[in-house]
This record gives sequence, C-alpha cells and structure tokens, in this order.
Amino acid sequence: MENVIIIGSGPAAHTAAIYCGRADLKPLMFEGMMAGGVASGGQLTTTTEIENYPGFPEGIDGSALMLRMKKQSLNCGTTIQTSTINKVDLSVNPFKVFSGKQSFTTHSIIIATGATARRLNIPGEDKLWQKGISACAVCDGALPFFRNKTLVVIGGGDTAVEEALHLTKFASVVKVVVRRDVLRASKAMQDKFFRNKKIEVLWNTNVIKTIGDNSLENLEIKNNQTGKESIIEASGLFYAVGHTPNTDFLEKQIKTDKSGYIITKPGSTVTNIPGVFACGDVQDSKYRQAITAAGSGCMAALEVEKFLNETN
Ligand code: FAD
Ligand code: NAP
Repeated sequence: MENVIIIGSGPAAHTAAIYCGRADLKPLMFEGMMAGGVASGGQLTTTTEIENYPGFPEGIDGSALMLRMKKQSLNCGTTIQTSTINKVDLSVNPFKVFSGKQSFTTHSIIIATGATARRLNIPGEDKLWQKGISACAVCDGALPFFRNKTLVVIGGGDTAVEEALHLTKFASVVKVVVRRDVLRASKAMQDKFFRNKKIEVLWNTNVIKTIGDNSLENLEIKNNQTGKESIIEASGLFYAVGHTPNTDFLEKQIKTDKSGYIITKPGSTVTNIPGVFACGDVQDSKYRQAITAAGSGCMAALEVEKFLNETN
C-alpha cells in the first residue's frame, strides 16, 4: 500500500515528488512511456532552450532540465516506474491504479499528467517542428531567429490572440490565420488585438503546407470560401488551436470542465474526490508554464501531507 502515487513526469509531478519525498512519504511515481505521445519528462522534452525558468541565467535545454528534476526526485526518495497509468479506480479509498496488468493501491494520488498541444499534421510540419514551427509563442517567440520577421499564428481563440499580441514585440508583422470569419476570443482580448497595427488577419483561411529546408520559410494557404491558394512568407508558425489535457485514463471519475481540464478548488489542488489532487497543466488552461506547474506541484504535495495526517 502506497502513501501517495504521482501520475505524470513534468515539472508539476517532479516538484510534488521532491516535496513528498522530503516529507518521508516514499512517493511512487509513474512517469509514463510516451504517454499522450510525449516522452517522460513532459512537454519541455519537446523543446530546446528554456529561458524563463528561474535559476538558469544562461537558459537550459528542456530535456536537460527535466533530467535534473528527475535526479532530484530520486535523490529525495521517490521510486520512479517508466510506465503509463491507463486506468484508475477512485470509487473507494484506498484507490487502485493500473498500469497494464499490474495494479497498485494507495491512500492518495497526485495527478500531474499535463496537456498536449494540438498539432495540425500539415504536410512538412514534422520536418520543421521546432525549426520555425512551435506550439508556444510565449516560450519560443523571443528566440533570435524570429526577430523582425513575418510570423504566423493559426487559431482564433484567446490563446491565438494573446500569442499574436506577444509576438508583435519581436516580429515585423504577425499574420493570424483564422479558419472562420470570426474570432472565438473574448471581446476584451479582441479589442486590443484589432487595435494593434502589426497584426493582419487572414479570414476563412487554412494553412495547407509548410515550406522550408532547414527552417520554415513559406506557407501555402488556401481561402476556404474562394478556394484560392497562395504562398506567404513566414519565418515562424505558432499553433494556437487548443490543448488536450491528458485525462482520458480517468474515465470521467473526476470532475472536469467541458474541455477535459480537471476542476480544482480555487487556490488549491483539491479535486472533487478527497485524497485525489491535481496539479500542473492538467488543471490549468490559463497559465500553462513550467514554473506555474512546478508551483502547483508543491501545493499538491503539501495538501497530500495534510490529508494523510488528518486521515491516518
Ligand atoms: P507536462 O510537462 O505536460 O508533463 C506531463 C507528462 O506526464 C506527459 O508529457 C507524459 O510524459 C506523462 N503522462 C501523461 N499521462 C500519463 C499517464 N497516464 N501515466 C503516466 N504518465 C503520464 N513553459 C515554460 O515555462 N517555458 C518554456 O520555455 C516553455 N516552452 C515550451 C515549449 C513547448 C514546445 C511546449 C509544448 C510547452 C512549453 N512550455 C514552456 C510549457 C510547459 O512545458 C508546460 O507548462 C509544463 O511542462 C507543464 O508541466 P506539467 O507538469 O503539468 O506536465
Ligand atoms: P480554444 O478557445 O479552443 O480556441 C482554439 C482555436 O483554434 C479556435 O479559434 C478554433 O477555431 C481554432 N482551431 C481549432 N482547430 C483548428 C484547426 N484544425 N484549424 C484551424 N483552426 C483551428 O483554445 P484556446 O484559445 O487555447 O483557449 C482555451 C481556453 O483557455 C479558453 O477557455 C480560453 O478562454 C482560455 N484562455 C484564456 C486566456 C485569457 O483569459 N487571457 C488566454 C488563453 C486562453 P474555431 O473558433 O473555428 O473553432
């Protein structure tokens, strides 16, 4: 019987593991095996330089940062299994957690399975991923090779608007490709967006091909009303077409919002099931940063410790 099982392996999971380990809870972590299509270590393993995680003034490679976090979790007494949890039974405490044919029982669970940025699988995308194509303008927009260039954002929601506004600080022009003739983004965000002279919107348009040898150079686009195809210059392409929280394995046993994000009590990591806590991007559709994920991982561990003290 475990005190606490941590599911996930991003900054939220490892911060929770460090705190639980130091509290002598002997945490058991399932770090996943290409869970949600992402390597153990989470979303940061899919990028290069991280420049906004405190403590690394020269920046640090995403995978290197996650390896350091894993080492710290192990040093603090975490047991890590490289497998994916595909089922849980939360109907009664102790809870059951399943990985293939193996099952484990535990008094508490921290869910830190993150979210996966949606990709569009446009021809050429795989070859140019992270060579001009990214799913995070806040993370990558300031990189030197995007400066004073034409940058393109796909999407019409709040993220697309926010990312386009952010990119105007670096780009010469930001073109936003919207598949309909309206934005989904909130009115307040739209007001700022339409006032910005660097932003140009391509309505009723889809990107149908990404072009470039070693880095992105052009995009082939198609107006879905007229059928007209054309090529535009683009040094950067940023997807803002939504994220999918990794919550399928919970089979609706925990309350989520309509997009699948776990609902936590405001200001905490408490879910609707006592003893089950959620931290990081799996419960955060707003900030979605490594440092906010880590912060909520710390909160989850402290809340687990309190829960175990009160119930055992
Ligand atoms: P994640 O990092 O999403 O990790 C969760 C991981 O848990 C999954 O990836 C998977 O490996 C594992 N998992 C999932 N399901 C299961 C399961 N059922 N069983 C076991 N394991 C499972 N943020 C910044 O602050 N700075 C940046 O520069 C930055 N750059 C980014 C660049 C890119 C390309 C992307 C996509 C994101 C970037 N972010 C950046 C955002 C940052 O990566 C996320 O906010 C952060 O990683 C979220 O951490 P997390 O702990 O919630 O989970
Ligand atoms: P979202 O609201 O789901 O918007 C996704 C956008 O991508 C939509 O415009 C959608 O088009 C478009 N899209 C989806 N699939 C596409 C495809 N295959 N091709 C082209 N376009 C595609 O996602 P989000 O913008 O990431 O926002 C998620 C949540 O976070 C929202 O609740 C949002 O309000 C919130 N958020 C808030 C803030 C803030 O308050 N500052 C900032 C960011 C996010 P359609 O409109 O045609 O469906």
